[in-house]
Amino acid sequence: MTSSSTVLVLGAGMVGTCTALHLAMRGHAVVLVDRRAPGRETSYGNAGIIQREAVEPYAFARSLAKLASVAFKRDADVNYHLGALPGLAGKLARYWRNSGAARYPAIAQAYGRLIAHATDEHAPLIAAAGADDLVRREGYLHIFRDAATLDAALAKARALSRSHGLRTAALDGAALATAEPALRQRLAGAIHWLDPWSVSDPGELVARYAAHFQRLGGTLAEGDAATLRQTTAGWTVQSADGAIEAEHAVIALGPWADRLLRPLGYRLPLFVKRGYHRHYRGGMAPRLPLYDTARGLVIAPMQRGVRLTTGAEFARQDAPATPWQLGRAQRYARELLDLPEPVEAQPWLGARPCTADMKPVIGPAPRHRGLWFNFGHAHQGFTLGPVSGRLLAELIDGEAPVVDPAPYAAQRFVK
Ligand SMILES: Cc1cc2nc3c(=O)[nH]c(=O)nc-3n(C[C@H](O)[C@H](O)[C@H](O)COP(=O)(O)OP(=O)(O)OC[C@H]3O[C@@H](n4cnc5c(N)ncnc54)[C@H](O)[C@@H]3O)c2cc1C
Repeated sequence: MTSSSTVLVLGAGMVGTCTALHLAMRGHAVVLVDRRAPGRETSYGNAGIIQREAVEPYAFARSLAKLASVAFKRDADVNYHLGALPGLAGKLARYWRNSGAARYPAIAQAYGRLIAHATDEHAPLIAAAGADDLVRREGYLHIFRDAATLDAALAKARALSRSHGLRTAALDGAALATAEPALRQRLAGAIHWLDPWSVSDPGELVARYAAHFQRLGGTLAEGDAATLRQTTAGWTVQSADGAIEAEHAVIALGPWADRLLRPLGYRLPLFVKRGYHRHYRGGMAPRLPLYDTARGLVIAPMQRGVRLTTGAEFARQDAPATPWQLGRAQRYARELLDLPEPVEAQPWLGARPCTADMKPVIGPAPRHRGLWFNFGHAHQGFTLGPVSGRLLAELIDGEAPVVDPAPYAAQRFVK
């Protein structure tokens, strides 16, 4: 691709915005298209952690005890809509197989190679976008209610730290109480992951990246990605200001990617894990984000209040909200912290864009010239946006890529 090429990036979440930014930094004429302002969907509603420690992707639980607890909805970390399961069965079966000992290690290796660049790739963008005020570089805590679970998790954390060059600190109950005075009860302790960063307003970070993209000469446009059409010269999309033509188009629509892919003839094993959040005011906030491992919830101090986020809900993306997980998470979180006043009348609902092999899809569309994919970042798209954006920009430009792109190619799903 020459430096005068034009590129349409569809979707202004963390992934699309970073892709547009990296292309603009390389001198291309880029239009970033969304039906909303940048960073108002999934990239707004997450727990805001730049998860440098998440070197292993979120596997399908395989212990019978855990599966039974999920089936009977005993815990708050997973929920499902019975009616959605027949439609999901094939993809979940692949997710299950990919989480087993035969396939998972190679998947985790590929995942770890990408996540290794998480903070290094956010750092220059945060600096250039003037977003330092949103970022805390002090890690976050996995908290534990019982000593045996803490000990097992510590052993695993230390092994991962050794193999991936991560830093952790162990906190016993007393050290945790000192570190987090907002905690109302004495817990067994915590693992302090020191490498991750946390963001006090995730949507605002995307908005600042998008503003920086505009300062570099990039254009934001309001439009519906569903109007994308192939032309003899490339691609066109309808925007509020008329048709926009470009040589290249990037699909970065997060959990909505499948809706554009199907009319183009692609059937990738994509699904969503929905998640909820709500903010609370009036009590003492934790200093750092807390991941309550037993309950599968994250409690993060944010600008709007203390944000409580839930685990996964297997449901159709557009099915009505069923926030019982959030209700339960709220009960568990109130055992830990004083969370008196909910900020929103209704919880926020979003959807993690997942693939059956837990790896994002980054690279060329197998059957369309000038079409590129960047989606499927599941539990860590907020973390992976900058490195994924860089990788795709390098692939479009034919540069040496920051990591081997083969594990993320869409070709792996296309026969
Ligand atoms: C509860 C929860 C907690 C999470 N916590 C974390 C965390 O702590 N750390 C982390 O790294 N990740 C976390 N994640 C995951 C992370 O939020 C996602 O992986 C990431 O936001 C996906 O980014 P994206 O840019 O691919 O998608 P999105 O942010 O959803 O962006 C897609 C964009 O496409 C646009 N769009 C869709 N359809 C159209 C259309 N037809 N026309 C035009 N535009 C369209 C949307 O408006 C949207 O702006 C969490 C997710 C959830 C739900």
